[in-house]
Parts: sequence; structure tokens; C-alpha cells
Amino acid sequence: MILEGAAVVTMDGQRSEYATGHVVVEDNRITAVGPGLSDLDGPRIDVTGCLVTPGFVNTHHHLYQWVTRGLAVDSTLFGWLTALYPVWAGIDADIVRTAATGSLAWLARSGCTTTMDHHYVFPRDGGDVFAAEIEAASRVGLRFHPTRGSMDLGQSKGGLPPDRVVEDRDEILAATQAAIEKHHDPALDAMVRVAVAPCSPFSVTPELLTDAAALARRYGVLLHTHLAETLDEEDFCREKFGCTPIEYMDRLGWLGPDVWFAHAVHLDDGAVATLSRTGTGVAHCPSSNARLGAGICRSADLHRAGVRIGLGVDGAASNEASSLLEEIRHAVLFARARGGPEELAVRDAVEMATMGGARVLRREAEIGSLEPGKLADLAVWRLDGLGHVDVVDRVAALVLGAPPPLELLLVNGRPVVEKDRVVTVDETDLAAEVAAASKTLLTRAGVTS
Ligand code: ZN
Repeated sequence: MILEGAAVVTMDGQRSEYATGHVVVEDNRITAVGPGLSDLDGPRIDVTGCLVTPGFVNTHHHLYQWVTRGLAVDSTLFGWLTALYPVWAGIDADIVRTAATGSLAWLARSGCTTTMDHHYVFPRDGGDVFAAEIEAASRVGLRFHPTRGSMDLGQSKGGLPPDRVVEDRDEILAATQAAIEKHHDPALDAMVRVAVAPCSPFSVTPELLTDAAALARRYGVLLHTHLAETLDEEDFCREKFGCTPIEYMDRLGWLGPDVWFAHAVHLDDGAVATLSRTGTGVAHCPSSNARLGAGICRSADLHRAGVRIGLGVDGAASNEASSLLEEIRHAVLFARARGGPEELAVRDAVEMATMGGARVLRREAEIGSLEPGKLADLAVWRLDGLGHVDVVDRVAALVLGAPPPLELLLVNGRPVVEKDRVVTVDETDLAAEVAAASKTLLTRAGVTS
């Protein structure tokens, strides 16, 4: 397949861009990228008026929350969690499959080709919810990094979640090991890779964090958790452990090139330096942090310090829009609102969503840029309509302009979105399934809407 006639932004090491260029795809690989027309033979697709970018990589999410959107809309993180835990306690494999399918389809519409998921609610009689979301990703067709989350610090032990949504530590470790053995694919072009992800310092014990790290390192898989999201969390760590969240993780062996943290909003200069020195990654979630009033991440400082930083939409219950394109825009705007006009360049934010995310998920050799040999994960944005046609800088048209139509999204060489519609699932049928699953769950929890 030869895509030609469009502007091309590669996000390669030189940040090569072509005002008019081509991208050639064979099977699941990119085989050529360059200016002008391609001189190769093959089926040609004229994408004049469009901009081709690498597919976006989402580094933090909770797919199941797609069916619990619009609740506790004016609460703090701890207030919001306390309102939602009882609702989430009612999920099962069917609900998670539907929620994940809806969420993944919508992510695809926002240019996302690879996403992680952080799933940490496993009701005792809920079935195999982890397998259910992997089925959903396979159906929608996105590259998927599900992480086996967990909570073992319930209210009776001083944690935030109610006891009925937490699990026993030995059960968690056994289930996590089983999930890695069953689903993790270390192959270079893998569609599914598993990571280990206890939920947060205020919902898991230090013993679980230590054991989870040992398990992940035994299998050579990545480690993830929420960290330094709010000042309430910082107070919790100081009171309970006598240190900051980053110092706490350092103590538990939770820093390194195989670890990434969601949020990392409240960092002092020492913490930024520690993340840089240890190679620890960050998933920056600007919309969710703003929605919950948690603060604004020092994303530009992290970027300047050489920290691996990607973008995340976070769960849909704290970011109803769930658009990775919107996260790029918010990353730029919030960084500048916080630190001034030169704080973060438009293309630095695009890098966070592409190569940055690939580095966070340790897939920088396979995805994140348009270069020969990389996997064919790319987005083609239509920029010749009223909203964008005259915006001189085509990357600014994408990032600072209104969300443009997504002409084509390829994942592993396969079309997932065409002309702004998901083609792997029926969006109308899926919307009805999502509405029914949400109603079932809210009825179970006694929430009336
Ligand atoms: Zn989260």
C-alpha cells in the first residue's frame, strides 16, 4: 500500500517532515518513507490534503471505566474514588468486555494505535475480566499492553478502598503470574504484552509492591503504578511511611528502566533528577489531572531532564473525552499555562504521544515513528476542511486546531478506522451494548441516573 500526496511527520531521530510525501506499507511493516511521490509499484492511495503521523501510544488507562462515566463530576480524587469503588465492585467479564470494546474503539478514533490498560478491580465472582479485555483489543484491532493491577490494602488495614474490592496478596501474585504466562508475547511485533501493576501506594501494601517487582523481574515484564498524583497521596505517604511517594518507591526497589508511573504530578527537583537518573518513565495525563484538580505535571522539566515521558488519557471516569489527540493539545496548553510560552513546543508534545509513549512501553525499536522497518501503525488526518485548510503549520493544525476527521488508522498494517468510522466493529451496535452494560452496572450498585 502506497500512501502519497499528504504531508508527513515522521518523528524519527531528525524529526524529518515532508510537506508532500509518501509512506509505503507492506504487510505489517513500513518499508519506505520520503518526500514527493514513491517510485515503487503497488496499490496507491491518494491522501492529498491529509497529514500522516505515527499512531499515538496511550500509556495510562482503565478501560472498564468506559461504563462509569459522568459520576462524581465535581469531586477530588479521594472523594471520586470513594464514590466509584462500590460501583466498580459490580463489574464482571461481560461488562468489562463491552466497556473495553467501547473504550478501545473510541481511542482508535483519536489516532491511538497502541494502548496499555491498568485493570485493578477483580470481583471474586466476576469471571476472567483480564482475558475479556484482551478479547476486546483483539476485536477492535489495537496493539495492547494490559497490566494486571491489584489492591490488597482495604479500609480495615488503613487503605482507601472498601475491603470487598481488595484481594489477598498470594492470590494476586498467583493470578498475575498466570496472566503473564497465558498472555504475554515478547515477540518483536507482539499485539499483546502484559505488565504488572499494583494500583497505588494508598491501596496496596509495601509487601505486595516488593513481591510484584520481584515477579515482574523474574519474567522480564514491565512494572507500573499510580504515583504522586495528589497532595492527599503525599500526605498519606509522609504520615504512613515518613517519606515522599518517590522516596517510598525507591525504598521498595521500584525505580528503573522497567518501571513507569502514571501522573507524577507532585515532584520536587530531587524527584525529577531521581526519575532521570534511574531511567524511570512517566505517563502524563493532563486532562484527568485537571478534571480531578490534582495539579499540572512538570512535563517540560521531565522532558528536559531526559525522563521517558508519554501521554495517557487515564480512565474514562476521570476523562470522559478519552481522546489521545486532546491529551497532546492539553499537554501543550497546560505546560504553557504553568510555565510560560516557551515551556513545551507543539512537536515535543507530539513526540510524547508517539516516540515518548513507545519508550515508556519499551517498544521504541518497533513503533512511535514512521521509519522503514518499523511496524505499520499510523494515522492519516484530513486537514483540507474548513477547520484546518488554512493553518500554515500542518502539525499545529492537528494539535492546536479542532480535532480533524481521521481519514485512516492502520494498526499492524490493518485498517481500524476509515473516514472517521471504526471499521472493525459496528459503532451503532456497540453504543447500544455500552449503554446496556452501564445501566446494568449502575442498577447493581443502586445508582439512579
Ligand atoms: Zn489511573
